[in-house]
Amino acid sequence: MATVFTIGEALIDFIPNETGIELKDVSGFQKAAGGAPANVACTVAKLGGKSAFIGKLGQDAFGDFLIETMTSVGVETGYVCRTDKANTALAFVSLKADGNRDFSFYRKPSADMLLAQEDIEEQWFQAGDILHLCSVDLIEAPVKYAHMKAIQAVQENGGIVSFDPNVRLPLWNSEVECRRTIQQFIPFSHILKISEEELLFITGIEDVEEAVTSLFTGHVEHILFTKGAEGAVWYTKTDRVSVAGYRVQAVDTTGAGDSFIGAVLFQLSKENSKIDEITHEQIKKFLSFANSAAAITTTRYGAIPSLPSIEEVSQFLSD
Ligand code: ATP
Repeated sequence: MATVFTIGEALIDFIPNETGIELKDVSGFQKAAGGAPANVACTVAKLGGKSAFIGKLGQDAFGDFLIETMTSVGVETGYVCRTDKANTALAFVSLKADGNRDFSFYRKPSADMLLAQEDIEEQWFQAGDILHLCSVDLIEAPVKYAHMKAIQAVQENGGIVSFDPNVRLPLWNSEVECRRTIQQFIPFSHILKISEEELLFITGIEDVEEAVTSLFTGHVEHILFTKGAEGAVWYTKTDRVSVAGYRVQAVDTTGAGDSFIGAVLFQLSKENSKIDEITHEQIKKFLSFANSAAAITTTRYGAIPSLPSIEEVSQFLSD
């Protein structure tokens, strides 16, 4: 089985006591481990795959909590660095009535942003391993260059790069900078996961098919277009597979996208799939599996605590 490495931020999500109100009116919060790359690593591990998280955490209680949480679900945390130069990142969340959310981030700078090129070692990555990244830690900071070094090492060693832009505009100086950086990193990735809003934001093209086609640049071979409750469409240069989402009572969509891509990467790593040999039937199977893992995640609060086990996904799919 190949290893799914994820790189970037692990942080504390502070989940509000009440839903359907603005952040300023929330009476209190519950802490939960989060950060998209950490969520994806936990998804893979909880499903029974091999995953490792690469990032930097503060020498503080929240850093300890994140290590404990990731380790407890089976993520390899031996690649994590600690620093006393900055604190672990925090994100306060408000949940709207439909389960969607707003964020207020505390990371100026946070420890994750200090991950540096020197912290990455080329020999970590073997042929077939997967490196998954997001855009939050592609802002102008040492961590952006750590990502570049990891991407190069993975590609040189015959691995697969997966990218979920996961746009979080409040973290950027400007929309233009965010868009330009994402556009810069897309060609390095073999797998691109993108949501409806992100597709329009990144390409500026209204027509979905045309927008998706414009993203087949550089190494990109697979584009996974997620549509919330409606499910997802998987595009290759020659195929298009659409699988509807599952009807569930969503209470919190935090982590749905991470659970979705984590479930896809779990399947790929489990089958040691060569990404240029994935069949139409495999894609259909991967999509149903990922839609169900993500649907389960939306029925519970928080990100990592709500990720399903392989038994839960199997049970869900057989019901
Ligand atoms: P996130 O909210 O984590 O940022 P995203 O915007 O990256 O998610 P979405 O398209 O919202 O991605 O959701 C990813 C996947 O999660 C969908 O393709 C679907 O499988 C599942 N999903 C999301 N919302 C729901 C829902 N309300 N009901 C069932 N499944 C859902």
